[in-house]
Amino acid sequence: TLLEARVQVATAELAEQNEKLRRQAIQLEQASAAKSQFLANMSHEFRTPLNAILGYTNMLLQGVSGELTPIQRRNLTRIDSNGRHLLEVINEILDITRIEAGRMPLHLSDFGIPELLQEVMAEMDPIIVRSKLAVSTHLGAKLPQVHSDRQKMKQVVLNLLSNALKFTHEGSVRVSAECATPSSLLTISVTDTGIGIDPAYQEKIFEDFQQVDSSPTRAYGGTGLGLSICRRLADMLGGRVTLQSIPGQGSTFTLHFPRRPRRT
Ligand code: ADP
Repeated sequence: TLLEARVQVATAELAEQNEKLRRQAIQLEQASAAKSQFLANMSHEFRTPLNAILGYTNMLLQGVSGELTPIQRRNLTRIDSNGRHLLEVINEILDITRIEAGRMPLHLSDFGIPELLQEVMAEMDPIIVRSKLAVSTHLGAKLPQVHSDRQKMKQVVLNLLSNALKFTHEGSVRVSAECATPSSLLTISVTDTGIGIDPAYQEKIFEDFQQVDSSPTRAYGGTGLGLSICRRLADMLGGRVTLQSIPGQGSTFTLHFPRRPRRT
C-alpha cells in the first residue's frame, strides 16, 4: 500500500541518516584524539627546553657567573617567574590531555581521609605560614575508609586549598570532611573568608583557562586550569565539585565523592 511504501522510504532515509551520523561521530572522535595527541606531544617538547632555560636562569640568579646588578637581578627574576608560569600551564595542559585521552588511569587503594588531609596540610605548610591566615581542619564523626584514587583526591584538595589561600587576604580557611550517613557521599569542603566569586562567574571558572580576572594587570597569578582539572578528576572519582560563594564574603568549594568510584 501507499502507507507501507512511505514507511519503507522513511525507514531507509533514517538508516541513511544514522549511518551518516555514525561516520561523523567517528571522525569527531578521531579529530579529538589527534588534537589531544598533538597537545601532549607539543607540551612534552616544550618542557625540555623550558627546564633548561629555568635551570640556567637560576644559575645566573645564584651568582655563578659573578655578582648581578640590581637591574640584571630584576630582569632575571622576571624571566624566572614567566618561565615558571609557562611550565605550570604546560604541565596542566598535559594533565588535561592525559585525562581526556584516557591515559590517566585510576589507581585505587584503601585509605583514610584524616591522613590524606594531614598530608595535604603538611605539604602546604610553608604557604599556610606565609599566608598568616587561621587555617584549620575539621573531621566529621564516622568518616569511613575509602577505596579510591588517593593521588587524584589529594590533587583536588591541594588545588582547592591553594586557591583558598591565594584569594583570601584576612580571616580563615577551613578544611572539613564529612559523611552524613553511611550511604551518602563523602564531602571535603574548603571554606574561605576571601574575595568571593560573582554569581556570573560561578560556573564559568570551572571551564578551561577561565578566571574572574584575566586582564594583563590582574592581581593574582595562575593559569585558569586548576578548577577545570579538579572538575575532571572529581568526575573520575565518581563525584563532583560544587561551589557556594558570596562576593566580598568568601567561598566554599566542596568535593563530593563516593567511597568507591562506580565501575565504568
Ligand atoms: P587559577 O587559580 O590558576 O586562576 P583556577 O581554575 O584554579 O585557576 O581558578 C579559576 C578562577 O576562579 C580564579 O582565577 C579565580 O578568579 C576564581 N577562584 C578560584 N578559587 C577561588 C576562591 N577560593 N576565591 C575566589 N575566587 C576563586
